[in-house]
Parts: sequence; C-alpha cells; structure tokens
Amino acid sequence: MSSAISAVPRPVIYARQSVDEEQGIGQQLDDCRAECQRRGWQIAGEFQDNDTSASKERGPKTAWAAMLKAFDSDEFDTIIVTETSRITRSLVDVLDIRPPRRDIRVVVIREAIDTEHDDFMLKQLVLLAEREVKIKGARAARYAATRRAAGHPTPGKPPHGYRWVPQIERDSTGIRYRIDDAEAEDVRQIFREFLSGAPLGQIARDLSEAGRLTRRGSRWSSSTVRRVLLNPVYAALLAPAQPSGEYDATAIDLEACTPGSWGAIVERDHLVAARSRLIGTKPNHNGTARKWLLSGLAVCAVCSAPVRSARGETHPTARADGSGAAQTRRYHAYRCVQGHFMRNGDIIDDFVSEVCIARLSEVDAVQLVTPRADGVDVGVLHANREGLKTRRQSIARFVARGLMTDLEADDSLREIADEMRSISEAIARAVREDPLAELAEIDDVRAWWSGGTLARQRLLVEHLMTVKIHPVGHGKRVTNLDAAEKTVTIRWKRD
Ligand SMILES: [Zn+2]
Repeated sequence: MSSAISAVPRPVIYARQSVDEEQGIGQQLDDCRAECQRRGWQIAGEFQDNDTSASKERGPKTAWAAMLKAFDSDEFDTIIVTETSRITRSLVDVLDIRPPRRDIRVVVIREAIDTEHDDFMLKQLVLLAEREVKIKGARAARYAATRRAAGHPTPGKPPHGYRWVPQIERDSTGIRYRIDDAEAEDVRQIFREFLSGAPLGQIARDLSEAGRLTRRGSRWSSSTVRRVLLNPVYAALLAPAQPSGEYDATAIDLEACTPGSWGAIVERDHLVAARSRLIGTKPNHNGTARKWLLSGLAVCAVCSAPVRSARGETHPTARADGSGAAQTRRYHAYRCVQGHFMRNGDIIDDFVSEVCIARLSEVDAVQLVTPRADGVDVGVLHANREGLKTRRQSIARFVARGLMTDLEADDSLREIADEMRSISEAIARAVREDPLAELAEIDDVRAWWSGGTLARQRLLVEHLMTVKIHPVGHGKRVTNLDAAEKTVTIRWKRD
C-alpha cells in the first residue's frame, strides 16, 4: 500500500464515457491536462474507458482495472477527473480506491473535491449518484412491466413483416407494430414452404431470386430464414425479457410468452411446428439450395446415383460460309457422378414439368393430397396444453402456500414440461403442410406450377414421382419433348 500524499503528487487522468453520453472523452482529457498544468503537476499517465458504464462492474479489460494495477505497482498516487460521476456511480468502486483497500488521492475538478483533506464529499456524491441510478432503474422497470402487460413490444426495429408505429401516429390501442403487407407475404411464404418440407437454403434462394430482399436490402440466407421461423413475434406473442446481448431465439419458452397487442402474420400452431422442427437441428442448411428442378432428385438410370447439375459448353464447328465458328455457349446440364452421362437439362426440366402439370390437371388429382392430420384432433391437443398450463399454475400456488416442497414441485414441473413438449410435437406433425394441399383450390394448374417457387416445384416432383435419366449416345441430341420422353423414365409414387 502506498502513502497517499507525497511531496510532489504524481497524478494520472481518468476519463470515462458510456454509450449514451454526450460529453466526449477528449474534452475530459483537455480539462484535466489544463488543471495539472495550472497546478504545476507532471502527468504520470492517462486512462480512458470508452462505452463503459459507471454503474456496472468494470471488468479486468477496462482502463479502470489497468489503473488500479498501475497504482499497486506504485506508478502514481493521485487520480484527477472532471466530475465524480466519471470515476463511478457506485460506492463499491470508491471503496476500491479509498482506505482501507487503497489510499489514492482523488481530485475532482468541477465539484472542487480533493481527498487530501477528507473523502466525505466524494462518498456523498457517489452515494447520490448511486441512488439516482437505482431510481432511474426502478422507474424503467415499472414502465417496462406496464408496457408488457399491455402487450407492447420493446421499442426498436420490428422484425421483417412489421413496421414501427411512431408515438404520434398511434391510435387509442397504442399498437406499435403495423403489418407491412409485402413483407408479411415473405414471412407467410417462408412458413408455408418450410412446413411443406423445403430446406432453409432453398427458401432463401427462391426469395432472393424473386427480388424479395431482407429489410437491409440484402439476399436472404438460411440463417435469416431460420430466424423468421423461430420468432414468436409472428404469432403475436411477446417473449419474456432476455439478458441484453444474449438473445437466443431457441431459448424462448413459448408457454412463457404473453399475448402481444399487434396482429399475427402466422398461426400459433405453425410457429410451434416450425420451432419444434428447427430447435436442436444444425442451423446451417445452405448446402442444399438448388438452382435446378432435378439436381439431387432425379437418378441415373444405369447406377441409380442422384444426378448433379453441371455447366455444359457447346463446341461449335466452323460455319459453312467461312465466317468462323459460332460463339461457345454455356448451358445447364445434368450429369451422373459416375460418368454415365452429361445431358442438357433444360429439355429434361421442361419434360418433367409437363408431366407434372398433366398429372395434376387430371380430375382425380385431388386424391393425391394426403388426408390432413392423420385423424389427430388439433383442438383436443390445444385443450390438453391449456390443462397442463393450469396444473403448472396450481403447483406454484401449492409451493407458495407451503403445501408442496421445492423438490416435489421440480419433479412435477419437469413432468409437465415433458408432456407439453410431446403435445407440441404432435401439433407440429398435424399442421405439417402437404405441398399439394392447395391443389383443391387451383383452377389453372399450369399457372400455379409456373408461378410457384423452385422449392415448391421440387417438393411436388419429389412427392409425385421418381425420375430416372438415361444416357444418350454421343452426338445424339434430344431437342424436343417427344425425344425427351424416350430417354427419361418416370415412376409414380402415389397411384
Ligand atoms: Zn450413373
């Protein structure tokens, strides 16, 4: 421990600024340097903490911690600051620099404090600051609780699908989120396709290719699509507060969400279904995004390996009129990974599309749709879930009244959580969508097929048929649908 007062003080400057403060660090340094000069003191060091709050504990990486270490190695004996609030807003910190722990002399310019004489004023001011922080915190917590009870979200940018309603434009309901029709359609498409079985990467790709970008104007990725599918906000559910900076959408307990005041974009069941499929699976499905109808789906007729897409290249010969060779053109191709063929893909895609459209246009096509929900009554599942919620509440009451021990309550709660999880899974299975589900309402199958995303078209192909592609002889070109029919075998899966 050093002595507080030596003949000539060796001061360091401490400057601090939190994220939301106006007064710059530069100004604080200037003022302190001027004060040292006025007093004829030699500055032994400068410590500055940017974006650092004085009401929370300062970690080992802060300048504050480095400064204490420097004092312990006897590099200085005095701290000079512009205001008490720069040092701290918490008395615990003062106890770190004042006896008995350390005896550092503190000089505060604006409040004319110098602990050379006594630290009464310093401690008083810090206590006042501490009190102010507490009152502000309590006020903010009260406001947040009222806001939550009314079903209003935390202020800030709403997710894709909603627009923030500024205070001046709010009606008597005070609703903060307004549905943005175009963006909401993106969200519905994401849920619809995911629940029909499309991979995240494919959904992302289809949206981006259609020019429908994220709020930031960038392409969708599997992780942005995943974030949408996990977000309770779309079912108008307000998630419980999470520690700031540690937001984790998968950790949200849907049962602990409260009703939001804004309009839902998707049904709660669809959110439950999407979440139960995503949570616990690897977040990255980028590798499965496809550019073509049949890659990975059709198989080689010789070896049965799934075909890959490839980039073919034309090899033009010189023109008869001597004007040289035509330009080399690239085309989309399918190839067998074992090398059995490489074929122009456009004509095969066209052929398979025509076969699908023809089959789906037949009168009995509606019978292809899987009957919904396998006889499961979603209403009953919902009722069961509500029952479990009631049981959970009564357990809390039993514990509060001393009728149940914590240990017993833990067991029961775990049981209830298990049951809730299996109910959610059952609902998820029940609401999983058949890619053919819309078929009954479709008049123009061709338009429906062409207007659909690649994900949807691939799901339909996968649902309906197995496609086998045969090799064709060298130099033989398949350029029309009749020729394609002879080199592609289709086996129906559901007739
Ligand atoms: Zn093959």
